Amino acid sequence: MTENTDNPYYSLFLKQKSNQFNIANSTYSQRITKLNALQRAIEITYRDKIQEALYKDLRRPLVESDLVAVYLVIKEIKHAKTNLHRWLKKQKVKSQITLLGTSSWISYEPKGVCLIISPWNYPINLALSPLVAAIAAGNSVIIKPSEIAKHSSTLLVELISSLYKEDEVAVIKGGVETAQHLLKLPFNHIFFTGSIPVGKIVMEAAAKHLTSVTLELGGKSPVIIDQSANLKQAAEAVVWIKHFNCGQTCIAPDFIFIHESIKQEFLEHYKRVLVRYYGEDASKSETYGRIINNKNFKRLELYLEDAKSKNAHFEVQGLKNEQDKFIGPTVISDLPEDSLLLKEEIFGPILPIKTFNQLDEVTDYLKSKEKPLALYIYAKNRKTIDLLIKNTRAGGTGINNNGLHFSNHNLPFGGSNSSGIGKAHGFYSFKEFSNVRSILKRYSIGPIRLLYPPYTSFKELIARITVKWL
Ligand code: NAD
Repeated sequence: MTENTDNPYYSLFLKQKSNQFNIANSTYSQRITKLNALQRAIEITYRDKIQEALYKDLRRPLVESDLVAVYLVIKEIKHAKTNLHRWLKKQKVKSQITLLGTSSWISYEPKGVCLIISPWNYPINLALSPLVAAIAAGNSVIIKPSEIAKHSSTLLVELISSLYKEDEVAVIKGGVETAQHLLKLPFNHIFFTGSIPVGKIVMEAAAKHLTSVTLELGGKSPVIIDQSANLKQAAEAVVWIKHFNCGQTCIAPDFIFIHESIKQEFLEHYKRVLVRYYGEDASKSETYGRIINNKNFKRLELYLEDAKSKNAHFEVQGLKNEQDKFIGPTVISDLPEDSLLLKEEIFGPILPIKTFNQLDEVTDYLKSKEKPLALYIYAKNRKTIDLLIKNTRAGGTGINNNGLHFSNHNLPFGGSNSSGIGKAHGFYSFKEFSNVRSILKRYSIGPIRLLYPPYTSFKELIARITVKWL
């Protein structure tokens, strides 16, 4: 660690390191006390401030802030509190006959000093949800929230420092340079949520210290709608999640694949639902958020110009207002494959729509792409659903819904390969922040002694019997 003496965060890291075993050996009730404090802060003391910070950062509607930053984090805490006793108990496992005279068990031990790096789109939830699991598992934690969601990251510093000493949990504000300093330190685990390119940087830095990683990344999550689907219900669900947080959601529908014969009918439903949810002009709706900053506004504008230059067809043409960082709901069809909207993760309220006639066209297309974080299927026909699940790959899947799998803490949440490594939520997060330690205790001589050297012909016979029969 000597190469880190100039690192501005080295002394904080060392403080946590030297406190590591105090936290690791904290009792069940001490951990529950820490979780209760976090719950009270989110539910009561800081609830208004959380809503205010998210409104200032993203013009996030109150309901959306309450659902993701408050309700889902509290759910995560309650789930951990209900199950922690069981998770901390040693888990006995069976042994084969050759291990007679021993007993074996698994113990979930804390990894140690952990780093959580979070993105701007759900700046409170994606910093605090992993923290719940890290605390439950008995770790100390440094959180590096996104510099882009300024109000939320300032609030996180205040909230966390009001609850915990810095040698147990600390928040460090800062951008890329700060993250890069932190990534040089030999953490025991890094839990990163963000983009694919930065995920690769994190993994490369972690490799230097053989630090384990959880990577919660993004990608292009498709929605497949077949002829058997209930189109009105599909439109209602897709419009909701596509425009939740103004489309800046990792599991938002990135593009639609719909059967050619139902495209027009679906679009009619979709347009009606847009008006029902956000009125004729979404910029006047309190239910519709904004793009986080001008850089992202420009990025989305570039995608739209690219689509226009390639003669794509605007089924719904959203209005734009750069000053207000507003982009209205937009739906585009007839996009060529080399268009930016079909190549890049969109992360905004623009929805490309592609059509198919045979399901093979969908599965062949998706097989040629990276595995998405989520894949959604709208269909009533069970054969269609089974065929699509068997012939596609994704971190998670919603059938006749969008994104609800994220909210079930009994389901592991995360990607696969390019969309992520490792799983989050409930027990799965707890496991990410734990070393699954295996312990075997020998309490009597047992048959294994029969195989101690020297290897006589009798022992060769025993080895042969063992291989064949035991
Ligand atoms: P990002 O990767 O740009 O930034 C994430 C974090 O990494 C921030 O804290 C940032 O400061 C830091 N960072 C940025 N560049 C870095 C670098 N070069 N070296 C080290 N650290 C660096 O992501 P973002 O723009 O904040 O968030 C959007 C992305 O996150 C989208 O791709 C989205 O799909 C993904 N995301 C995934 C999930 C999930 O649960 N899988 C959830 C939300 C967002």
